[in-house]
Amino acid sequence: MRYLSTRGQAPELDFAGALLAGLAVDGGLYMPARWPRFSAGELRALRGLPYPELAARVLAPFTEGSIGFAGLQSMCRRAYAGFSHKAITPLVQLDTNIYALELFHGPTLAFKDMALQLVGHLFEHVLERENKKICIVGATSGDTGSAAIEAVAGRQNISITILHPHGKTSEVQRRQMTSVLADNVLNLAVDGNFDDCQAIVKALFADTGFREKMSLSAVNSINFARIAAQIPYYVYAALNLGAPEREVAVAVPTGNFGNILAAWAARQMGLPIARFIVASNRNDILTRFLDANDMSLRAVEPSLSPSMDIGISSNFERLLFEFLGRDAGQTRHQLSTFATQGRMPIPDAVWQAVRREFTGYRCSDAETLAEISRLYRETGYLADPHSVIGIAAAREKAPVGLPVIAAATAHPAKFPDAIEKAIGSRPPLPPHLSGLYDREERYEHAPNDWSAVARIVERRFANRNSE
Ligand SMILES: *Cc1c(COP(=O)(O)O)cnc(C)c1O
Repeated sequence: MRYLSTRGQAPELDFAGALLAGLAVDGGLYMPARWPRFSAGELRALRGLPYPELAARVLAPFTEGSIGFAGLQSMCRRAYAGFSHKAITPLVQLDTNIYALELFHGPTLAFKDMALQLVGHLFEHVLERENKKICIVGATSGDTGSAAIEAVAGRQNISITILHPHGKTSEVQRRQMTSVLADNVLNLAVDGNFDDCQAIVKALFADTGFREKMSLSAVNSINFARIAAQIPYYVYAALNLGAPEREVAVAVPTGNFGNILAAWAARQMGLPIARFIVASNRNDILTRFLDANDMSLRAVEPSLSPSMDIGISSNFERLLFEFLGRDAGQTRHQLSTFATQGRMPIPDAVWQAVRREFTGYRCSDAETLAEISRLYRETGYLADPHSVIGIAAAREKAPVGLPVIAAATAHPAKFPDAIEKAIGSRPPLPPHLSGLYDREERYEHAPNDWSAVARIVERRFANRNSE
Protein backbone atom coordinates (compact mmCIF):
# COMPACT_ATOMS: atom_id res chain seq x y z
CA MET A 1 0.00 0.00 0.00
CA ARG A 2 1.18 3.52 -0.86
CA TYR A 3 0.43 6.58 1.26
CA LEU A 4 -0.23 10.09 -0.01
CA SER A 5 -0.62 13.45 1.69
CA THR A 6 -4.00 15.17 2.03
CA ARG A 7 -2.28 18.33 0.72
CA GLY A 8 -0.76 16.65 -2.32
CA GLN A 9 2.72 18.14 -2.17
CA ALA A 10 4.69 15.49 -0.28
CA PRO A 11 6.32 12.34 -1.62
CA GLU A 12 4.27 9.13 -1.59
CA LEU A 13 5.58 6.65 0.96
CA ASP A 14 5.09 3.03 1.94
CA PHE A 15 3.68 2.06 5.35
CA ALA A 16 7.03 2.18 7.15
CA GLY A 17 7.77 5.57 5.60
CA ALA A 18 4.42 7.02 6.66
CA LEU A 19 4.92 5.55 10.14
CA LEU A 20 8.28 7.24 10.63
CA ALA A 21 7.22 10.51 8.99
CA GLY A 22 4.07 11.13 11.04
CA LEU A 23 3.13 14.47 9.52
CA ALA A 24 3.80 14.89 5.78
CA VAL A 25 6.40 17.52 4.77
CA ASP A 26 3.69 19.69 3.15
CA GLY A 27 1.86 19.89 6.49
CA GLY A 28 -0.75 17.35 5.34
CA LEU A 29 -1.71 13.97 6.77
CA TYR A 30 -0.91 10.62 5.19
CA MET A 31 -3.77 8.54 3.80
CA PRO A 32 -3.73 5.15 2.09
CA ALA A 33 -3.89 5.49 -1.70
CA ARG A 34 -7.14 3.48 -1.61
CA TRP A 35 -9.23 1.77 1.05
CA PRO A 36 -8.86 -2.02 1.13
CA ARG A 37 -12.21 -3.81 0.69
CA PHE A 38 -13.41 -6.89 2.57
CA SER A 39 -16.33 -8.77 1.01
CA ALA A 40 -19.18 -10.01 3.22
CA GLY A 41 -17.64 -13.48 3.03
CA GLU A 42 -14.22 -12.20 4.07
CA LEU A 43 -15.77 -10.33 7.01
CA ARG A 44 -17.71 -13.42 8.09
CA ALA A 45 -14.46 -15.39 8.09
CA LEU A 46 -13.11 -13.04 10.79
CA ARG A 47 -15.96 -13.80 13.18
CA GLY A 48 -14.89 -15.60 16.33
CA LEU A 49 -11.17 -14.98 15.90
CA PRO A 50 -9.20 -13.86 18.96
CA TYR A 51 -8.65 -10.09 18.84
CA PRO A 52 -4.92 -10.10 17.88
CA GLU A 53 -5.57 -12.53 15.02
CA LEU A 54 -8.45 -10.45 13.71
CA ALA A 55 -6.36 -7.27 14.05
CA ALA A 56 -3.51 -8.75 11.99
CA ARG A 57 -5.89 -9.73 9.18
CA VAL A 58 -7.63 -6.36 9.12
CA LEU A 59 -4.31 -4.49 9.13
CA ALA A 60 -2.48 -6.67 6.60
CA PRO A 61 -3.60 -4.70 3.51
CA PHE A 62 -2.24 -1.48 5.08
CA THR A 63 1.23 -2.84 5.79
CA GLU A 64 1.44 -4.85 2.56
CA GLY A 65 4.69 -4.30 0.69
CA SER A 66 6.37 -2.98 3.82
CA ILE A 67 5.87 -5.45 6.69
CA GLY A 68 5.22 -9.17 6.14
CA PHE A 69 2.13 -10.88 7.56
CA ALA A 70 4.00 -13.15 9.99
CA GLY A 71 5.80 -10.16 11.51
CA LEU A 72 2.57 -8.19 11.77
CA GLN A 73 0.78 -11.10 13.39
CA SER A 74 3.53 -11.54 15.94
CA MET A 75 3.47 -7.80 16.75
CA CYS A 76 -0.33 -7.87 17.21
CA ARG A 77 -0.01 -10.81 19.59
CA ARG A 78 2.68 -9.09 21.66
CA ALA A 79 0.93 -5.70 21.63
CA TYR A 80 -2.25 -7.01 23.27
CA ALA A 81 -0.72 -9.73 25.44
CA GLY A 82 -0.56 -7.43 28.47
CA PHE A 83 -4.22 -6.42 28.41
CA SER A 84 -6.20 -7.28 31.51
CA HIS A 85 -9.29 -8.69 29.76
CA LYS A 86 -9.13 -11.87 27.69
CA ALA A 87 -11.43 -10.41 25.01
CA ILE A 88 -9.11 -7.31 24.78
CA THR A 89 -12.10 -5.13 23.76
CA PRO A 90 -15.20 -6.64 25.41
CA LEU A 91 -18.69 -5.49 24.48
CA VAL A 92 -21.07 -4.81 27.38
CA GLN A 93 -24.80 -4.47 26.77
CA LEU A 94 -26.32 -1.44 28.53
CA ASP A 95 -29.76 -1.21 26.95
CA THR A 96 -31.82 -2.99 24.29
CA ASN A 97 -29.67 -1.56 21.52
CA ILE A 98 -26.72 0.10 23.26
CA TYR A 99 -23.41 -1.66 23.77
CA ALA A 100 -20.29 -0.21 25.42
CA LEU A 101 -17.15 -1.26 23.56
CA GLU A 102 -14.56 -1.20 26.34
CA LEU A 103 -11.26 0.04 24.96
CA PHE A 104 -9.56 0.66 28.30
CA HIS A 105 -8.14 -2.70 29.39
CA GLY A 106 -4.58 -1.77 28.40
CA PRO A 107 -1.74 -0.73 30.73
CA THR A 108 -2.79 2.94 31.14
CA LEU A 109 -6.57 2.41 31.27
CA ALA A 110 -7.40 4.55 28.23
CA PHE A 111 -8.11 3.72 24.62
CA LYS A 112 -4.82 5.30 23.47
CA ASP A 113 -3.20 1.98 24.46
CA MET A 114 -5.11 0.19 21.69
CA ALA A 115 -3.09 2.03 19.05
CA LEU A 116 0.11 2.94 20.87
CA GLN A 117 0.91 -0.55 22.15
CA LEU A 118 0.97 -1.77 18.57
CA VAL A 119 2.67 1.34 17.20
CA GLY A 120 5.51 0.84 19.73
CA HIS A 121 6.19 -2.59 18.21
CA LEU A 122 5.86 -1.27 14.66
CA PHE A 123 8.37 1.51 15.36
CA GLU A 124 10.88 -0.87 16.90
CA HIS A 125 10.53 -3.33 14.01
CA VAL A 126 11.08 -0.67 11.34
CA LEU A 127 13.89 1.13 13.20
CA GLU A 128 15.81 -2.08 13.79
CA ARG A 129 15.46 -3.07 10.17
CA GLU A 130 16.64 0.33 8.96
CA ASN A 131 19.26 0.60 11.70
CA LYS A 132 17.91 3.95 12.92
CA LYS A 133 17.31 5.50 16.31
CA ILE A 134 14.74 8.10 17.24
CA CYS A 135 14.09 10.37 20.13
CA ILE A 136 10.39 10.92 20.75
CA VAL A 137 9.46 14.21 22.40
CA GLY A 138 5.92 15.09 23.37
CA ALA A 139 3.79 17.17 25.70
CA THR A 140 0.86 15.76 27.60
CA SER A 141 -2.00 16.94 29.74
CA GLY A 142 -2.39 13.36 30.93
CA ASP A 143 -3.45 10.36 28.85
CA THR A 144 -1.29 10.41 25.73
CA GLY A 145 1.98 10.75 27.62
CA SER A 146 1.46 7.69 29.78
CA ALA A 147 0.22 5.55 26.88
CA ALA A 148 3.25 6.57 24.78
CA ILE A 149 5.68 5.87 27.62
CA GLU A 150 4.16 2.44 28.27
CA ALA A 151 4.36 1.68 24.56
CA VAL A 152 8.10 2.32 24.17
CA ALA A 153 9.61 1.79 27.64
CA GLY A 154 12.67 -0.44 27.43
CA ARG A 155 12.91 -0.42 23.64
CA GLN A 156 16.39 -0.29 22.13
CA ASN A 157 16.10 2.18 19.29
CA ILE A 158 13.72 4.66 20.85
CA SER A 159 14.03 7.13 23.68
CA ILE A 160 11.12 9.18 24.92
CA THR A 161 10.84 12.51 26.70
CA ILE A 162 7.42 13.59 27.91
CA LEU A 163 6.77 17.07 29.26
CA HIS A 164 3.91 17.50 31.68
CA PRO A 165 2.79 20.67 33.46
CA HIS A 166 4.14 20.45 37.01
CA GLY A 167 1.32 19.93 39.51
CA LYS A 168 -1.40 20.15 36.86
CA THR A 169 -2.08 16.53 35.92
CA SER A 170 -4.07 14.22 38.17
CA GLU A 171 -2.03 12.07 40.55
CA VAL A 172 -3.04 8.87 38.74
CA GLN A 173 -1.94 10.36 35.43
CA ARG A 174 1.41 11.60 36.82
CA ARG A 175 2.21 8.34 38.56
CA GLN A 176 1.38 6.35 35.43
CA MET A 177 4.17 8.25 33.70
CA THR A 178 6.74 8.75 36.43
CA SER A 179 6.64 5.23 37.85
CA VAL A 180 8.03 3.81 34.59
CA LEU A 181 11.74 3.59 35.47
CA ALA A 182 13.19 2.36 32.15
CA ASP A 183 16.45 4.03 31.02
CA ASN A 184 14.98 5.28 27.76
CA VAL A 185 12.23 7.27 29.51
CA LEU A 186 12.60 10.87 30.67
CA ASN A 187 9.73 12.64 32.40
CA LEU A 188 10.00 16.41 32.72
CA ALA A 189 7.75 18.37 35.08
CA VAL A 190 7.68 21.82 33.53
CA ASP A 191 6.95 24.97 35.54
CA GLY A 192 4.05 26.05 33.37
CA ASN A 193 0.76 24.82 31.95
CA PHE A 194 0.01 22.39 29.13
CA ASP A 195 0.20 25.10 26.47
CA ASP A 196 3.70 26.02 27.70
CA CYS A 197 4.73 22.37 27.39
CA GLN A 198 3.37 22.23 23.86
CA ALA A 199 5.14 25.47 22.95
CA ILE A 200 8.44 24.00 24.17
CA VAL A 201 7.94 20.88 22.06
CA LYS A 202 7.15 23.01 19.02
CA ALA A 203 10.29 25.08 19.59
CA LEU A 204 12.43 21.93 19.86
CA PHE A 205 11.06 20.67 16.54
CA ALA A 206 11.54 24.09 14.94
CA ASP A 207 15.27 24.04 15.81
CA THR A 208 16.37 22.11 12.73
CA GLY A 209 19.87 21.51 14.07
CA PHE A 210 18.60 19.97 17.29
CA ARG A 211 15.88 18.09 15.49
CA GLU A 212 18.32 16.39 13.14
CA LYS A 213 21.06 15.80 15.67
CA MET A 214 18.63 14.06 18.02
CA SER A 215 16.42 12.47 15.29
CA LEU A 216 13.33 13.90 16.95
CA SER A 217 10.04 12.19 16.33
CA ALA A 218 6.47 12.77 17.52
CA VAL A 219 3.69 10.52 18.76
CA ASN A 220 0.61 12.60 18.15
CA SER A 221 -2.60 11.19 16.79
CA ILE A 222 -1.97 12.38 13.24
CA ASN A 223 0.18 9.30 12.53
CA PHE A 224 -1.78 7.09 10.14
CA ALA A 225 -0.54 3.96 11.90
CA ARG A 226 -2.49 5.04 14.97
CA ILE A 227 -5.67 5.42 12.94
CA ALA A 228 -5.16 2.02 11.30
CA ALA A 229 -4.62 0.31 14.66
CA GLN A 230 -8.03 1.60 15.78
CA ILE A 231 -9.96 -0.02 12.91
CA PRO A 232 -9.94 -3.68 14.07
CA TYR A 233 -12.02 -3.15 17.22
CA TYR A 234 -14.92 -1.76 15.22
CA VAL A 235 -14.78 -4.83 12.99
CA TYR A 236 -14.61 -7.09 16.06
CA ALA A 237 -17.59 -5.40 17.73
CA ALA A 238 -19.78 -5.17 14.64
CA LEU A 239 -19.22 -8.86 13.80
CA ASN A 240 -20.29 -9.73 17.33
CA LEU A 241 -23.50 -7.73 16.81
CA GLY A 242 -24.44 -9.47 13.58
CA ALA A 243 -22.48 -7.71 10.83
CA PRO A 244 -22.10 -8.05 7.89
CA GLU A 245 -25.78 -9.16 7.75
CA ARG A 246 -26.89 -6.43 10.15
CA GLU A 247 -26.14 -2.71 10.10
CA VAL A 248 -24.83 -0.96 13.19
CA ALA A 249 -24.20 2.63 14.34
CA VAL A 250 -21.25 3.97 16.36
CA ALA A 251 -21.12 6.73 18.99
CA VAL A 252 -17.64 7.99 19.86
CA PRO A 253 -16.45 10.49 22.50
CA THR A 254 -14.37 12.69 20.26
CA GLY A 255 -11.42 15.06 20.56
CA ASN A 256 -8.95 14.93 17.70
CA PHE A 257 -11.35 12.88 15.53
CA GLY A 258 -8.96 9.91 15.30
CA ASN A 259 -11.12 7.25 16.91
CA ILE A 260 -14.29 8.01 14.95
CA LEU A 261 -12.29 8.35 11.74
CA ALA A 262 -11.11 4.77 12.27
CA ALA A 263 -14.77 3.68 12.41
CA TRP A 264 -15.40 5.51 9.15
CA ALA A 265 -12.37 3.77 7.64
CA ALA A 266 -13.87 0.43 8.70
CA ARG A 267 -17.02 1.38 6.78
CA GLN A 268 -14.93 2.18 3.68
CA MET A 269 -13.49 -1.31 4.03
CA GLY A 270 -16.94 -2.90 3.88
CA LEU A 271 -18.27 -2.89 7.45
CA PRO A 272 -21.97 -1.89 7.43
CA ILE A 273 -21.90 1.14 9.76
CA ALA A 274 -24.97 3.22 8.96
CA ARG A 275 -24.38 6.22 11.25
CA PHE A 276 -21.49 7.95 13.04
CA ILE A 277 -22.36 9.92 16.17
CA VAL A 278 -19.70 12.44 17.21
CA ALA A 279 -19.97 13.08 20.96
CA SER A 280 -18.32 16.16 22.45
CA ASN A 281 -18.20 18.15 25.67
CA ARG A 282 -18.52 21.96 25.74
CA ASN A 283 -15.55 22.13 23.37
CA ASP A 284 -17.88 21.42 20.52
CA ILE A 285 -16.33 22.57 17.23
CA LEU A 286 -17.44 19.37 15.47
CA THR A 287 -20.99 19.51 16.79
CA ARG A 288 -21.23 23.16 15.74
CA PHE A 289 -20.02 22.16 12.30
CA LEU A 290 -22.48 19.29 11.97
CA ASP A 291 -25.43 21.31 13.30
CA ALA A 292 -24.81 24.60 11.52
CA ASN A 293 -21.73 24.39 9.27
CA ASP A 294 -19.88 26.50 11.85
CA MET A 295 -16.29 25.23 11.85
CA SER A 296 -14.71 28.04 13.85
CA LEU A 297 -12.06 28.25 16.54
CA ARG A 298 -13.00 29.10 20.11
CA ALA A 299 -10.88 29.18 23.25
CA VAL A 300 -10.56 25.73 24.81
CA GLU A 301 -12.35 25.48 28.14
CA PRO A 302 -11.44 22.84 30.72
CA SER A 303 -14.13 20.20 31.31
CA LEU A 304 -14.65 16.99 33.27
CA SER A 305 -13.58 15.05 30.16
CA PRO A 306 -10.11 16.59 29.63
CA SER A 307 -9.03 14.26 26.83
CA MET A 308 -11.73 15.82 24.66
CA ASP A 309 -10.78 19.42 25.45
CA ILE A 310 -9.62 20.50 22.02
CA GLY A 311 -10.01 23.57 19.84
CA ILE A 312 -9.27 21.92 16.48
CA SER A 313 -9.74 18.27 15.57
CA SER A 314 -6.64 17.59 13.46
CA ASN A 315 -7.91 14.36 11.91
CA PHE A 316 -10.98 16.08 10.49
CA GLU A 317 -8.66 17.06 7.63
CA ARG A 318 -8.65 13.44 6.54
CA LEU A 319 -12.45 13.27 6.36
CA LEU A 320 -12.60 16.58 4.54
CA PHE A 321 -10.10 15.27 1.98
CA GLU A 322 -12.38 12.29 1.37
CA PHE A 323 -15.56 14.35 1.12
CA LEU A 324 -13.84 16.73 -1.29
CA GLY A 325 -13.35 13.73 -3.56
CA ARG A 326 -9.69 13.43 -2.52
CA ASP A 327 -8.93 16.80 -4.09
CA ALA A 328 -5.66 17.74 -2.35
CA GLY A 329 -5.60 21.28 -3.83
CA GLN A 330 -9.01 22.08 -2.40
CA THR A 331 -8.13 20.49 0.95
CA ARG A 332 -4.99 22.64 1.10
CA HIS A 333 -7.04 25.72 0.32
CA GLN A 334 -9.64 24.95 3.03
CA LEU A 335 -6.99 24.33 5.67
CA SER A 336 -5.07 27.49 4.83
CA THR A 337 -8.29 29.50 5.20
CA PHE A 338 -8.76 27.88 8.59
CA ALA A 339 -5.20 28.69 9.63
CA THR A 340 -5.41 32.35 8.64
CA GLN A 341 -9.03 33.14 9.56
CA GLY A 342 -9.77 30.74 12.42
CA ARG A 343 -12.85 29.56 10.58
CA MET A 344 -13.50 27.30 7.62
CA PRO A 345 -16.71 27.59 5.63
CA ILE A 346 -17.33 24.19 4.04
CA PRO A 347 -19.14 24.07 0.67
CA ASP A 348 -22.82 23.40 1.32
CA ALA A 349 -22.98 20.20 -0.73
CA VAL A 350 -20.01 18.79 1.20
CA TRP A 351 -21.56 19.74 4.55
CA GLN A 352 -24.83 18.06 3.55
CA ALA A 353 -22.99 14.93 2.46
CA VAL A 354 -21.13 14.71 5.78
CA ARG A 355 -24.41 15.18 7.66
CA ARG A 356 -25.95 12.22 5.88
CA GLU A 357 -23.43 10.04 7.76
CA PHE A 358 -22.40 11.99 10.86
CA THR A 359 -24.50 13.42 13.70
CA GLY A 360 -23.19 15.69 16.47
CA TYR A 361 -23.98 15.57 20.18
CA ARG A 362 -22.86 17.87 22.99
CA CYS A 363 -22.86 17.30 26.75
CA SER A 364 -22.16 19.88 29.49
CA ASP A 365 -20.30 19.02 32.71
CA ALA A 366 -23.55 19.01 34.69
CA GLU A 367 -25.15 16.64 32.18
CA THR A 368 -22.04 14.44 32.24
CA LEU A 369 -22.35 13.97 36.02
CA ALA A 370 -26.10 13.40 35.76
CA GLU A 371 -25.56 10.77 33.04
CA ILE A 372 -22.91 8.92 35.09
CA SER A 373 -25.25 8.77 38.04
CA ARG A 374 -28.32 7.80 36.01
CA LEU A 375 -26.50 5.02 34.11
CA TYR A 376 -25.13 3.70 37.39
CA ARG A 377 -28.61 3.69 38.98
CA GLU A 378 -30.32 2.09 36.01
CA THR A 379 -27.75 -0.57 35.09
CA GLY A 380 -25.04 -0.72 37.76
CA TYR A 381 -22.52 0.24 35.06
CA LEU A 382 -19.94 2.84 36.02
CA ALA A 383 -18.74 4.89 33.04
CA ASP A 384 -15.96 7.50 33.09
CA PRO A 385 -16.73 11.12 32.12
CA HIS A 386 -15.63 10.54 28.49
CA SER A 387 -17.35 7.21 27.82
CA VAL A 388 -20.62 8.36 29.35
CA ILE A 389 -20.93 11.14 26.77
CA GLY A 390 -20.76 8.55 24.00
CA ILE A 391 -23.33 6.41 25.76
CA ALA A 392 -25.70 9.38 26.19
CA ALA A 393 -25.15 10.29 22.53
CA ALA A 394 -26.07 6.73 21.53
CA ARG A 395 -29.34 6.99 23.45
CA GLU A 396 -30.24 10.46 22.15
CA LYS A 397 -29.12 10.31 18.54
CA ALA A 398 -29.09 6.75 17.22
CA PRO A 399 -31.54 5.72 14.51
CA VAL A 400 -34.30 3.55 16.00
CA GLY A 401 -33.66 -0.17 15.96
CA LEU A 402 -29.95 -0.14 15.07
CA PRO A 403 -27.53 -1.61 17.58
CA VAL A 404 -25.09 1.14 18.63
CA ILE A 405 -21.47 0.57 19.53
CA ALA A 406 -20.60 3.26 22.11
CA ALA A 407 -16.83 3.52 22.41
CA ALA A 408 -15.86 3.42 26.12
CA THR A 409 -12.52 5.22 26.03
CA ALA A 410 -11.30 5.30 29.64
CA HIS A 411 -11.63 3.34 32.87
CA PRO A 412 -13.63 5.18 35.56
CA ALA A 413 -10.74 4.78 38.04
CA LYS A 414 -8.77 7.30 35.98
CA PHE A 415 -11.20 10.04 36.95
CA PRO A 416 -12.00 9.42 40.62
CA ASP A 417 -12.93 13.05 41.40
CA ALA A 418 -15.64 13.24 38.74
CA ILE A 419 -16.98 9.82 39.71
CA GLU A 420 -17.14 10.85 43.36
CA LYS A 421 -19.10 13.97 42.42
CA ALA A 422 -21.54 11.86 40.43
CA ILE A 423 -22.17 8.87 42.68
CA GLY A 424 -20.63 9.81 46.04
CA SER A 425 -17.78 7.30 46.15
CA ARG A 426 -14.41 6.76 44.48
CA PRO A 427 -13.84 3.80 42.16
CA PRO A 428 -10.98 1.44 43.11
CA LEU A 429 -8.01 1.00 40.78
CA PRO A 430 -8.10 -2.31 38.90
CA PRO A 431 -5.76 -5.02 40.28
CA HIS A 432 -2.84 -4.50 37.88
CA LEU A 433 -2.55 -0.86 39.00
CA SER A 434 -3.35 -1.29 42.65
CA GLY A 435 0.26 -0.63 43.74
CA LEU A 436 0.45 2.62 41.78
CA TYR A 437 0.35 4.93 44.80
CA ASP A 438 3.30 3.16 46.42
CA ARG A 439 5.61 2.92 43.41
CA GLU A 440 8.86 4.85 43.11
CA GLU A 441 8.59 7.89 40.87
CA ARG A 442 11.31 9.37 38.68
CA TYR A 443 11.15 12.78 37.00
CA GLU A 444 13.15 15.95 36.61
CA HIS A 445 12.01 19.51 37.02
CA ALA A 446 12.45 21.84 34.08
CA PRO A 447 12.00 25.59 33.76
CA ASN A 448 9.53 26.97 31.24
CA ASP A 449 12.33 27.54 28.73
CA TRP A 450 12.84 25.48 25.60
CA SER A 451 16.62 25.84 25.39
CA ALA A 452 16.99 24.57 28.96
CA VAL A 453 14.78 21.60 28.03
CA ALA A 454 16.91 20.99 24.92
CA ARG A 455 20.03 20.80 27.11
CA ILE A 456 18.39 18.34 29.50
CA VAL A 457 17.25 16.07 26.65
CA GLU A 458 20.64 16.23 25.00
CA ARG A 459 22.53 15.48 28.23
CA ARG A 460 20.35 12.47 28.81
CA PHE A 461 20.04 11.00 25.33
CA ALA A 462 22.79 12.33 23.02
CA ASN A 463 25.13 9.43 23.82
CA ARG A 464 22.40 6.91 23.47
CA ASN A 465 21.58 8.27 20.04
CA SER A 466 25.14 8.00 18.68
CA GLU A 467 25.80 4.53 20.11
C1 LIG B 1 -7.93 10.67 23.37
C2 LIG B 1 -9.21 10.41 24.04
C3 LIG B 1 -10.45 10.72 23.43
C4 LIG B 1 -10.55 11.40 22.08
O1 LIG B 1 -10.17 10.57 21.03
P1 LIG B 1 -9.84 11.19 19.58
O2 LIG B 1 -9.33 10.06 18.78
O3 LIG B 1 -8.80 12.26 19.82
O4 LIG B 1 -11.11 11.76 19.04
C5 LIG B 1 -11.62 10.38 24.11
N1 LIG B 1 -11.58 9.82 25.33
C6 LIG B 1 -10.42 9.52 25.95
C7 LIG B 1 -10.46 8.91 27.30
C8 LIG B 1 -9.20 9.80 25.34
O5 LIG B 1 -8.05 9.50 25.98
